[in-house]
Amino acid sequence: MIVNSERTIALTCPACQGIQKHTFSLFSISRKPLQLMCRCGFSQGHLRRLNKHFELDVLSIEGERARILLPRGQFFGTPLINLASPMSGQSLGYLGDPAMVQEVMIEEPSEFCLESDDFTNPDIMRYVLESLEQLAGQDKIRCECEHSCIGIDVYPDQVELVCSYCGSVVKIGARTQQHQERLARVTEIVMEPCTSQFLGEWLKPLT
Ligand SMILES: [Zn+2]
Ligand SMILES: [Zn+2]
Repeated sequence: MIVNSERTIALTCPACQGIQKHTFSLFSISRKPLQLMCRCGFSQGHLRRLNKHFELDVLSIEGERARILLPRGQFFGTPLINLASPMSGQSLGYLGDPAMVQEVMIEEPSEFCLESDDFTNPDIMRYVLESLEQLAGQDKIRCECEHSCIGIDVYPDQVELVCSYCGSVVKIGARTQQHQERLARVTEIVMEPCTSQFLGEWLKPLT
């Protein structure tokens, strides 16, 4: 039996709602957690070796934490595993042989993709999401509580940054030219623990 020494994990990202693939060599996984970073800058979770198991600790698309333990044999030998949250049963993504994962992603391409018609103003929304991704990629979005853990909820005309630890929310309009201009001036978003504010209100101190 030939075992491919590479595995791919494809996970739906709770922040940008895209599917991010992570390909790694089996030998690169140790007890030290391997961080699974999405291209948008969001950390989807980690993977590590635990004795005879592999532990996958990730966030579902709804931002719920899911911990999956896979026996070594299954992790190495199964061509394709449909990963589901042990709590809710919701699909998290796939794990398996890189070619198999690629194939299943092509078969179900748009299941998780956001459609332009979903938005009041798709151009402004695209700008807003790109800006937030950029800020997140530079570590410029955080909450001042103990365990800053920021997720993004996307609505037709606005996005909400939510700290899943303290529940703090920042709403960012994504409908008008004014919304776009306002966000263009933002260089960092620091959320106050557990309060709800509009971006425009706390923008003032920025110079
Ligand atoms: Zn992402
Ligand atoms: Zn917080």
